[in-house]
Amino acid sequence: MISSQTSSSLADNVLAAIQSVVGFGPVSLHEPSFDGNELQYLKECIDSTYVSSVGKFVDKFEKDLATYTGAKFAISVVNGTASLHISLKLAGVQSGDEVLLPALTFVATANAITYCGAIPHFADSEDATLGIDVLKLREYLNKTTSQESDKCINKITGRVIRALIPMHTFGHPSDIDGLLSIANDFNIILIEDAAESLGSFYSGQHTGTFGLLGTLSFNGNKTITTGGGGAILTNDEGLARRAKHLTTTAKLPHAWEFRHDEIGYNYRMPNINAALGCAQLEQLPSKLKAKRELFLRYQNAFKNLKGVKLFSEPMNCQSNYWLQTLLLDEIESKFRDNILSVSNNSEIMTRPVWVPMNELEPFNDSPSMDLANAKLLSQRIINIPSSPSIVLRAK
Ligand SMILES: *Cc1c(COP(=O)(O)O)cnc(C)c1O
Repeated sequence: MISSQTSSSLADNVLAAIQSVVGFGPVSLHEPSFDGNELQYLKECIDSTYVSSVGKFVDKFEKDLATYTGAKFAISVVNGTASLHISLKLAGVQSGDEVLLPALTFVATANAITYCGAIPHFADSEDATLGIDVLKLREYLNKTTSQESDKCINKITGRVIRALIPMHTFGHPSDIDGLLSIANDFNIILIEDAAESLGSFYSGQHTGTFGLLGTLSFNGNKTITTGGGGAILTNDEGLARRAKHLTTTAKLPHAWEFRHDEIGYNYRMPNINAALGCAQLEQLPSKLKAKRELFLRYQNAFKNLKGVKLFSEPMNCQSNYWLQTLLLDEIESKFRDNILSVSNNSEIMTRPVWVPMNELEPFNDSPSMDLANAKLLSQRIINIPSSPSIVLRAK
């Protein structure tokens, strides 16, 4: 038994383990599949001529989303980034505010903050959830903020920290109880970036329904897709009404007059995309079942492999397993790129996690706490093929 592996043996072993589950390439990281009423609904939509900004599929998709997630209201929009932008505006995020978010997220979370003229402020991540490290964030906020007339002030920059956006990484819920208590104790508004976690539950409640607002994405690589699309979730009727208004050019209802009472956005989801969404949402349970089955198969394939572990759902959570995730032991992280190259050369698509936001040019000057673990995680994470079709097609 050799104690430390060579890079080639680890990469070959990882490739063999993936192939024992997915077969030989080409296999993509996450591909959409359309196995239900998609064509029928799209035809209905086209036959009706209502393919654009209004129609019955938009209304149905929003109703079905609210029913599935348990949110009182769901407002569909053109993509997940737009849902973040509008949620931040609705939460009152203003130019010059700071908004906390994990450094380890997709760039859309940080971008949406800058669309409001606000400044992203990066938090570290923990191994247990791959989301924000709550203990470390609380300690940091205790040291670096003060409360002034019920506002959280960053003592270093003098700016208001208005909101906190946790992101449920690869569909694994963050420590929501811990985050809610930070939001409560420090007077910060919680908005959940649940773009990756449709079908994921924390203590039996759907992710994206804990914060004042939550956001979803239906991009082509997500668990279900509308081509491009997103949604805002909220339990607040006033915010839901404002979300619809702001995302539909802020036009006042009238039989013929074009009167807009504020600067709005053309962020609505077209009816033809919603038609696709209605059909996809019907298949969400079967996709989730297949993704969980895929996790179990990988778990079996990786159980005896040293140096790497398959990430599984956090305690008290039911994850959608959007992207299956390998976590390299710290000492093996130097082999990450070798593993990526060996698998991709064999047409088995694998990917590293995002470059931490604080390392991206546009965010070089953004405030942040110590991000040592986000940095480490970014070198240890590898996503492996995760499509439900891997399981569904083999039947
Ligand atoms: C996909 C995603 C979004 C939204 O992306 P869109 O492509 O705009 O729908 C936002 N945040 C995270 C973490 C995502 O993964």
